[in-house]
Amino acid sequence: MDEGKREGMPPSPGRSIGPASWAIRSIPRRLAAVLVSVEILAIAVVLTGGAVSASDVTTTGLWTIAVLAVAGMAHTEAALGVERMRRRVDQTPHMDLSSVWTFAAALLLPGCLATAVVLLVYLHLYLRAWRPSGFPVYRVVFSTATVVLAAHAAGVVVGLGGAAELFRSATGLVLLALAVLAYGLVNLVLVVAAIRMSGSGTSLLRAVGHRDELVLELTTLTLGAVVAAAVSAFGPALAVLVLPPLVVLHRTVLVRQLEEAASTDAKTGLLNAESWRLRAELALRAARHSGGTVAVLLLDIDHFKLVNDRYGHLAGDQILADIGAALRAEVRDHDLVGRFGGEEFVVLLTAADVDDLRTGAGAVADRIRCRIDDLRPEVPAPDGPVVVDDVSVSVGVATFPADGADLDRLIEVADAALYAAKAAGRNLVRHGLHTVDDPSASAPRPAHGS
Ligand code: GH3
Ligand code: MG
Ligand code: MG
Repeated sequence: MDEGKREGMPPSPGRSIGPASWAIRSIPRRLAAVLVSVEILAIAVVLTGGAVSASDVTTTGLWTIAVLAVAGMAHTEAALGVERMRRRVDQTPHMDLSSVWTFAAALLLPGCLATAVVLLVYLHLYLRAWRPSGFPVYRVVFSTATVVLAAHAAGVVVGLGGAAELFRSATGLVLLALAVLAYGLVNLVLVVAAIRMSGSGTSLLRAVGHRDELVLELTTLTLGAVVAAAVSAFGPALAVLVLPPLVVLHRTVLVRQLEEAASTDAKTGLLNAESWRLRAELALRAARHSGGTVAVLLLDIDHFKLVNDRYGHLAGDQILADIGAALRAEVRDHDLVGRFGGEEFVVLLTAADVDDLRTGAGAVADRIRCRIDDLRPEVPAPDGPVVVDDVSVSVGVATFPADGADLDRLIEVADAALYAAKAAGRNLVRHGLHTVDDPSASAPRPAHGS
């Protein structure tokens, strides 16, 4: 999967590998070493691939290069329209499904000639899509190098049986599958290695990508195989038939991003109140059926108005985002974290065992409270960046079934508990309606301003 495409996927909080973190001056030495090594390797592989023999440069070969390169460019042009639409909901760089053309080239052409297709398609992609959106040149060069290496890897697999056999026998199909694997894996390993070396703290799982991204990559490679089969059976002109389905495929990526945009709070990347509620209702229903339990945590930032008054609204927004990220990091993946209103957050914890949460929810809430208490966000302020060291939240907790049978009641109880936490001095956790002697109630340092 090439890097441009990976960047083009919907942003998820914590998976920030945007251009800023790749600014040339800030790239770690280890990353620079990896990038340069990959580029040198790509050049070496192309050069040692041997000079193109006269028999390689057939009229059909030249036609194939021309048609694949022109179809790749036409695809980029058509995709620019879809991209304009996509950017209304997502700021990530241009989505790139060009492996259809580069993989087809790898299957049909000797290494050097396949490289020509890669270079033409990527040069055009750079000029039309990446340069206008400020994508750094060294990343484009790296992406191109990974694709050249991936195409060569696929070419080596094809060479085991001969291109003529590829679409005509069972062995050929096995080789085709192996070529898909070789192309996909070489690309994935190189891009993941670069992301991991970038120092962005991206986990291996996130770097490998969402299942949808991997399926999309596999789909483009499959389409590349279809292009190659059509070209090999009926001539280069047939490659053009894949363009319309490819543009439609590109548009389907919009659906996921629209869905994500519609359910996400833009400031924090958490669920918005409506989608949190919809998912929480489902989780509660599941708990009711299975005899499980859920806990609702309502959190409100302490004296947030003071933060805005002191440092400005931009600083306030930054703190909202930092608290959102801390919350998300402190609970499990399947727990639901949402922004409930201005400076209020809501979390739904689920557990199979009622006893797990009756006592455990308070502990989780206190862990969250401590983590936020320990936050030291650096925020923009009129006189330069300031480290804020007195951010805290008050938390109200309600558990199902002990505190209520439906979501509205649970939120009501959590809200009353939150009010009790505020009244008792803030930066505290209170649980259920009878919160005064709650053992989970914490005794932290006083919140700012109180
Ligand atoms: P308390 O401890 O009682 O909760 O005090 P508070 O100051 O947090 O509560 P109050 O309800 O008086 O003020 C909430 C503040 O949250 C006021 C509003 O400006 C701020 N706020 C709400 N939404 C946003 C937002 O999206 N961005 C920023 N920067 N501030 C917000
Ligand atoms: Mg509030
Ligand atoms: Mg508040």
